[in-house]
Amino acid sequence: MAVLEQSTIRNNWTREEVLALFNQPFNDLLFNAQVAHRLTLIPNQVQLSTLLSIKTGACPEDCKYCPQSARYDTGLEKEKLLEIEAVIEAAKVAKASGSSRFCMGAAWRSPHDRDIPKVANMIREVKALGLETCMTLGMLSENQSEKLASAGLDYYNHNLDTSKEFYGEVITTRTYQDRLNTLSNVRNSGMKVCAGGIVGMGEEQTDRAGLLIELANLPRHPESVPINMLVKVPGTPMADLDALDPFEFIRTIAVARLMMPQSYVRLSAGREDMNEQMQAMAFMAGANSIFYCEKLLTTPNPAANTDLQLFKRLGITPEAYQVNRDTEDQAAQLRQTIAEAKTHSLFYRAG
Ligand code: SF4
Repeated sequence: MAVLEQSTIRNNWTREEVLALFNQPFNDLLFNAQVAHRLTLIPNQVQLSTLLSIKTGACPEDCKYCPQSARYDTGLEKEKLLEIEAVIEAAKVAKASGSSRFCMGAAWRSPHDRDIPKVANMIREVKALGLETCMTLGMLSENQSEKLASAGLDYYNHNLDTSKEFYGEVITTRTYQDRLNTLSNVRNSGMKVCAGGIVGMGEEQTDRAGLLIELANLPRHPESVPINMLVKVPGTPMADLDALDPFEFIRTIAVARLMMPQSYVRLSAGREDMNEQMQAMAFMAGANSIFYCEKLLTTPNPAANTDLQLFKRLGITPEAYQVNRDTEDQAAQLRQTIAEAKTHSLFYRAG
C-alpha cells in the first residue's frame, strides 16, 4: 500500500490490513510513518502534557496493571481529592516548565455528581493560567460530560486499554462497551477525545492491531492517542510479565501514526524504562506528544530537564512554547521553578 493511501483518514480498517502494516519490514514501516507524519503534522515538534494525580488510590476497579486499584497491595499512599490551591500551584509549575496541556487524573470508577463542581472549578482555574486542560476521572455520563464541557474542559482521557478480545484478561469490573459509551458521551458533548491503550500486557500482536482498529474506526479519530508501555508495578497481577520486544512497541506507534494521521500520538507511560535511542525511534515512528513531568499519576517518568536535553540533541521543539533562550537557560529556569515549588509542600504531596 502506498504511503498516501496508508495515511488517508479512514474509519473502516480491517484486521488483515492492520496486521499487514505491522508486518512490513521495520525500516519500511518507520519510513512510511515518518512520511505520513510530515504530510499532516509539523516535523520535529512535540507537544508536552503534564499529568497530575488529583485523587490517588483506593479505586474500586480491578485493572490488572494499575497500582491505584484498592484490590492490590502496592504500598501506594491514598490521597483524597486535592484542594484547588494545590492544583493551581502544580499547573503554574507545568506552565513555567513549558507544558501546553495540564492533565488531571482521579482514581475513580466514575466521578460522583457531588465532585463535578469541584473539578469544574479546577478546569476554570487551570484554563485561566493559559493552559489546555484534560481530565481522566473514569466513566462519564452524558450529563457529566456536558457539565465538564461547559466548564471549558478541552480534552477528556478514557483509554480502551487493549483489544475487545483481550480486554477480559485485563479488567472485569467494567465492560468494553462501558468505555465506548464514555467516549461517545465525551465526543457528543463537544470535548476532544484522548483515548489509547497499553501494550506489553501479555497480549498478541493481533490485540495491538485490534486496539488501534477500535480507535481508528470510531466515527471520528481521537485527537490524542496515548500509547503506553506497561509499567510493571510490584504487587499488581502484571508485575512479572515478560517484557515486550521494544521494536514491537515502536511498530505500534508507527501503525497508530499511519492509521490516525492527524492525531497526536503520545509516547506515554514506560518512557522511564526506555533509553534515548528508543525514544528517538518513537519520534521517528510518528510520536509527537509526551508526558512531561517526573511522575505519571503514580509511576516514574524522566525529569523535565532530561527531556529538554534529549530534545536539544534531536533538534525537537516543544509545541506552542516560545523558545527564546537556549536549552541550558530553560533548564536552569526550570530547576529554579521546581525548587521554588518544593517549598509549597502541596505540589509534591500530590505527586
Ligand atoms: S486504571 Fe483507573 S479505573 Fe483502573 S484501577 Fe487504575 S485508577 Fe482505577
